[in-house]
Amino acid sequence: MKSQEIRQQFLDFFESKKHAIVPSAPMVLKNDPTLMFTNAGMVPFKEYFLGQKKATNARVADSQKCLRVSGKHNDLEEVGKDTYHHTMFEMLGNWSFGDYFKKEAISWAWEFLVDVLKIDKDCLYVSVFEGAKEDGLGFDQEAFDFWKELIDEDRIINGNKKDNFWEMGAQGPCGPCSEIHVDIRSAEEKAKISGKSLVNMDHPQVVEIWNLVFMEYNRKADGSLEKLPSKHVDTGMGFERLCMVMQNVQSNYDTDCFTPLIREVEAITENDYGKNEEVDIAIRVISDHVRAVAFAIADGQLPSNNGAGYVIRRILRRAIRYGFTFLNKKEPFIYKLVTTLSKQMGANFPEIKAQKQLVTNVIKEEENSFLRTLEQGLILLDGIIKNTKGTEVSGKKAFELFDTYGFPIDLTALILSEKNMTLNESDFNVELEKQKNRSRAAAVVETDDWVVLQEDTEEEFIGYDTLATKVKITRYRKVSSKKDGELYQLVFNMTPFYAEGGGQVGDKGYIEVDNGNVIYIVDTKKENNLIIHFAKSLPKNPTQTFNAVVDEKQRFRTNCNHTATHLLHQALREILGTHVEQKGSAVHSKNLRFDFSHFSKLTVDELRAVEDFVNARIESKIPLEEFRNIPMQTAQDKGAMALFGEKYGDTVRAIQFGNSVELCGGTHVENTSDIWHFKIVSESAIASGIRRIEAITGDATKDFYFENNRAFFEIKDLLKNPKNPQKAIADLQNENTALKKQIEGLLKDKAKNLKSELINEVEEINGVNFLAKKLDLDAGSLKDLAFEIGTQVENLFLIAGTENNGKAGLTCYISKNLVEEKSLNAGQIVRELGKLIQGGGGGQPNFATAGGKNPAGIEEALEKAKEYIS
Ligand code: ATP
Ligand code: MG
Repeated sequence: MKSQEIRQQFLDFFESKKHAIVPSAPMVLKNDPTLMFTNAGMVPFKEYFLGQKKATNARVADSQKCLRVSGKHNDLEEVGKDTYHHTMFEMLGNWSFGDYFKKEAISWAWEFLVDVLKIDKDCLYVSVFEGAKEDGLGFDQEAFDFWKELIDEDRIINGNKKDNFWEMGAQGPCGPCSEIHVDIRSAEEKAKISGKSLVNMDHPQVVEIWNLVFMEYNRKADGSLEKLPSKHVDTGMGFERLCMVMQNVQSNYDTDCFTPLIREVEAITENDYGKNEEVDIAIRVISDHVRAVAFAIADGQLPSNNGAGYVIRRILRRAIRYGFTFLNKKEPFIYKLVTTLSKQMGANFPEIKAQKQLVTNVIKEEENSFLRTLEQGLILLDGIIKNTKGTEVSGKKAFELFDTYGFPIDLTALILSEKNMTLNESDFNVELEKQKNRSRAAAVVETDDWVVLQEDTEEEFIGYDTLATKVKITRYRKVSSKKDGELYQLVFNMTPFYAEGGGQVGDKGYIEVDNGNVIYIVDTKKENNLIIHFAKSLPKNPTQTFNAVVDEKQRFRTNCNHTATHLLHQALREILGTHVEQKGSAVHSKNLRFDFSHFSKLTVDELRAVEDFVNARIESKIPLEEFRNIPMQTAQDKGAMALFGEKYGDTVRAIQFGNSVELCGGTHVENTSDIWHFKIVSESAIASGIRRIEAITGDATKDFYFENNRAFFEIKDLLKNPKNPQKAIADLQNENTALKKQIEGLLKDKAKNLKSELINEVEEINGVNFLAKKLDLDAGSLKDLAFEIGTQVENLFLIAGTENNGKAGLTCYISKNLVEEKSLNAGQIVRELGKLIQGGGGGQPNFATAGGKNPAGIEEALEKAKEYIS
């Protein structure tokens, strides 16, 4: 059965059980401070489990893109080495939000595997939670009883807390689970060792395929458990593992999820899969990682130097490094796989098809730059090896190479072992640990438990319509970190404060406590579905009613910048073409930033046209038309661009200014005329095919023009107020060039006069015409002078010292015949004498120079020069 069909069977089966089938949510998470990537099928539904939002459908099923490369679930280092863990994989899941529970979850899972897919019962095992004393939880008898109806009792295994108690994180929803494992070994192997003893033992052919989680608790910060308001089911089945079972192969990589990619890697790199373990691992790594990276980019996460972008960059670099080392590919090639990937997965995940060109370009660019790093690193490592006495390379040096130049440590180790050398790993680890501690110390945030004062309400943001309102605190907690110190997070029953999101910063403001005192709100963010206000302190009486007030000025400026961002987007598509797509934005009160796909630098004329376009719309005084809670289709009919990966169940909000229609949750001006004026302040490239415009609006443009004007007047002043300042500067530049020429001429003349003086001063010592003197000349003239004297005086040994801006120089000229006859070497002489001026130098045997920082040593150096001939 083809993978395509397997996925469909799963969705059809759960549709027949009255589940709503929804598309995968994005793999990249933009507004979740607790998580960078979707790492399990339940992530998009978190807020339903937390009871912060009501699900539109109580039963849902889907195939969710997951990425396990950071945080609690991190499989990265295993990937490629084993045959059943991936970075990115699809998780098939069915959910009950307060609807069915253990009985249905268990019997449907069984029905699907055994009756629909016809998987042999005799290769299945299931596990149930054995209980945990410390949590006061006993054996999951209920699940056991349901399983007993379906499967032989001796195929049911007791599982411990590690394997059979699922937790979202250190805090949050959790519950016991039942796993389904398959044994796909041959009959022969099975006869030798029972499958039961291999469950949860990391055996590549006895693997977990499906995890059924029965969510009924919430883990609190103090470690204790409390019951959730209702019970839920969350199941996750590894799609690629299921395909392995159904296609009767021994590895996920032998399923049609991966074979097209593997054939392509084989063809491009001229390596065969299945002949050599190292090559195989490399091929698996590359065909796995290209999926993760391509989908991350398609979801809007470009590789970068920090955060989620850095995680993606590291995955790609791991793939490049394996190709470089084991497949011997020294030029970019991974980007070529995107075509195959998009053909293979585009039908189910249209984002990869739509973004194919961008994904290809970005990967290629990354490959190029990392391959350059590798090349440079190899040269540096060569240097380190040459300077190493003995066979052990210092861990500190290797760490430097790793930390400063991004050169992978395992590559260092490999190269050393090829040269029969070793690395001082413990020193390396010490350095690594030190660095980790440094960043850890900076990042640690300590969070107390929520203190809940009253139940949270659901639709609580009223800040589109008002900037001040009476609120009550529903919950609060203290958070402290090195960076921000101690702050209180407050949640209100409703709020006018906009929480950071959709590229727009969070609101600032204050709440009024008694006697006109205020507590400042320094930021507003969303966590799951809660709007969290970061307050400087906690009110003495948190249960009273407060007046909550948004900083109006800051909000207004932010509104101007947000609306301008929409107009800018429209302008770019109008002027550059519809290939322009938004790739990111940051809307602050001071300025705005807009990243978009486009392949060349904008010309001055294009920038002007874009500014004019936006300013024309500002002048046209276009009123805001806002549409809240409308279905996606209605928004698209109005002209809003369809976005991939909108989360299921969300209605949308559309913002319209004339012909500009965007899906947007941000805040805007009432009328474009509020913006007053729009000005681009920079345009640059941030990645291959991605440009960035930074711009300002309103008052900020006044300041911008004022500052520019002031600078201009100051320049004019300095130029003594000419009529045409540009011409005045050009005149100055010309004059400057002419004067430079004149000075050069004068210096040459001076040198000529000097030459005859100097020739007179030459003294003969031991058959050598010797001259040592401190001169006031620049390097170029001195060289000319030395060579000229050399043509007139034979057997010449000339050494001159110079002092320029506190720096010392030595110039040494020796006639060619002396070099041979007396084996004098100017290069060696300046190197030795250079020490006296605290510097170094070198050159040819007959002419060399040295520079140093100690002019006081010049006299001594000149004195010492005599010793070479006496
Ligand atoms: P394992 O112990 O095999 O790593 P897990 O306990 O981490 O699995 P869950 O978190 O329960 O797995 O995820 C649910 C299902 O997703 C698993 O049963 C498995 O089929 C699949 N799965 C988990 N991690 C991966 C991965 N890295 N690559 C592919 N499939 C995975
Ligand atoms: Mg795991």
